[in-house]
Amino acid sequence: MRKFHTATDEEIKKAATTDVYFVRTKEVLEKEGLSDLRVTAEVTTGSLPRDWNWGILAGVEETAHLLESIPINVFSFPEGTVFHPHDHAGIREPVLVVEGRYLDFCLYETPLLGLLCQASGIVTMAAQVRKAAGSKTLLSFGIRRAHPALAPMIDRACYIGGFDTVSSLAGAELLGLEPTGTMPHSLIVAIGDQVRAWKSFHKHMPKNVPRVALVDTYFDEKTEAIMAAEALGDDLYGVRLDTPSSRKGNFAEIVREVRWELDSRGFNRVKIFVSGGLDPKSVGELSEAGADGFGVGTSVSNAPTIDFALDIVEAGGKPVAKRGKLGGKKTVWRCDNCLIEQVRPENGQGPKCSRCGRETRPLLEPLLKNGQLVRELPKPSAIRDRVLQQLERVPPT
Ligand SMILES: [Zn+2]
Repeated sequence: MRKFHTATDEEIKKAATTDVYFVRTKEVLEKEGLSDLRVTAEVTTGSLPRDWNWGILAGVEETAHLLESIPINVFSFPEGTVFHPHDHAGIREPVLVVEGRYLDFCLYETPLLGLLCQASGIVTMAAQVRKAAGSKTLLSFGIRRAHPALAPMIDRACYIGGFDTVSSLAGAELLGLEPTGTMPHSLIVAIGDQVRAWKSFHKHMPKNVPRVALVDTYFDEKTEAIMAAEALGDDLYGVRLDTPSSRKGNFAEIVREVRWELDSRGFNRVKIFVSGGLDPKSVGELSEAGADGFGVGTSVSNAPTIDFALDIVEAGGKPVAKRGKLGGKKTVWRCDNCLIEQVRPENGQGPKCSRCGRETRPLLEPLLKNGQLVRELPKPSAIRDRVLQQLERVPPT
C-alpha cells in the first residue's frame, strides 16, 4: 500500500504520472503506422504570472534525468538562465527543445512540464526576494507549506534563486550545505520561560550553531530582545521576530524600535532576523528599517508556476504549428550585455544585439544526444552564481 500520495522515482521514470490522452495518442499513432514519425517540439510560455518582467528557468537537471536513456535529442537554456516569454519582437522563446521519434517521448510531456513549471516559478520568486534583500541573509523557511516529498526540490530552488541557506535536512543534504534554523516557539512554550529556554539552547547546542533568540513569545519584541541580550551577553548572535500578522501592526516600526533599544544599550552587534508572511515587498521595507536577515516561506515555496507548454513545431521534416504558435526549428540568440533575446529560424546567422549592437550567442545548448547526457550538470552553487550575476542586470520584476 502507498503510505504517501506521491509517485516513486520509478513511476515518474516510466511516465506513470502522464495524462492518459498521451497514452491514447501513442496507441493511435502506432496503429496508423506512424511509429517512426520524427518531430521537433519546443517548450514556451505565453506570459509570466503576476506580470513578472522576467523568469528564471529551472528543473533542467531533473528533466535531463527524466529523459535520459530515451533515444532523443534535447537542447535547453542552462539551468538558472533569465528568460522572457517573448523576444523583443514578440516571438515566443523556446527554452527547451526535444527532437526525435514522437512516440519515444510523447508520454513525457506531462512530467517534463511539471518539473520545469514549478521549479522555475519558485526560483523566479526566490530571485525577486534576493533582489529586494540586497546582500542581506536569506533563509528558506517554506517547506512546511508544501508536500514533504517536495522539500528538497523547494529548498534547492530557493538556494539557486539566491537564498543563502535552507532549513530542511534533506534539502541541505542535496545541496551539500548545513541546514540552518533558529528556535521555534514550541521550545519556549514547552520550557515555559523564555530566558530559561534561550539559556538552555545556549548550554546544549554546539558552538557553531549561531545563538539567535526568538523574542516575541510572551512579551513585546523590544522587551524580549533586551532580555535576550542581557541573558546571553556576547554569545547572542541575533534575535528573531516572527510576529504573527494579527499582532504585527507596522512591522517595520517594530524592527526600528528593537534596533534602537538594542543599540542604546550597547548591543549594536546583535543582528535582527525577521520572518512570517514575507514577500519581496515586505523584505525591501524591513531591510530599510534595519533587519539583517529574513526567513521567507510561503511566498516562495508556493510561488505561482510558470505555465510552460510543449508544442510540435516540425513533423516529418516540415514546419508545422497549431494556431498561435510558430512552426519550424529556431535558434534563440542572447546578448549577454543587455540580457535580451532574439528568436530566429534555425541555422541563420546570429543577429547583432538590437539594443547595444554587440555579438549575440545561441542560448539553447545540447543537453541529451540520443539519450546520453552531453553537458556537465553544474553544481547548485554554480547555478546560483549564474542567477546572481544576471540579477544585477535585470530590473525588479
Ligand atoms: Zn545588447
